[in-house]
Amino acid sequence: MAQQDLVYSSKINKIRSFALILIFVGILFMYIGILTKKIEWLMVLFFIIGILFVIFSCVVYFWIGMLSTKAIPIICPSCEKPTKMLGRVDACMHCKQPLTLDKELEGKEFDEKYNTRRYRKELKEKKRQSGNDKN
Ligand SMILES: [Zn+2]
Repeated sequence: MAQQDLVYSSKINKIRSFALILIFVGILFMYIGILTKKIEWLMVLFFIIGILFVIFSCVVYFWIGMLSTKAIPIICPSCEKPTKMLGRVDACMHCKQPLTLDKELEGKEFDEKYNTRRYRKELKEKKRQSGNDKN
């Protein structure tokens, strides 16, 4: 996934807009289907593609619902509105303020890599090493 956007938006919002785009694409395909109603098989094909997009969008919406239950509700320290966090780092839904649940990451520059498994593994490795040094 490309996370190079200059303005970081919260993950839930991102997935939500993705699902919305899917619905529009589905409707567009069905509209093209109406335009090609003279060629019956083409119309049916466009309709099927359109319906598939809409179904996929429903699946994505359902997935957001599942994610939302897992997300941690917090009050944004910046705009003081309630928002939800997914993963260790996320952005506020309202003011796009980067947020973290991890004290160790506080004050660090916001980076999507803190959510990756590899980073977590590295962190664990580092902790273990520093633990061994003390012994
Ligand atoms: Zn905020």
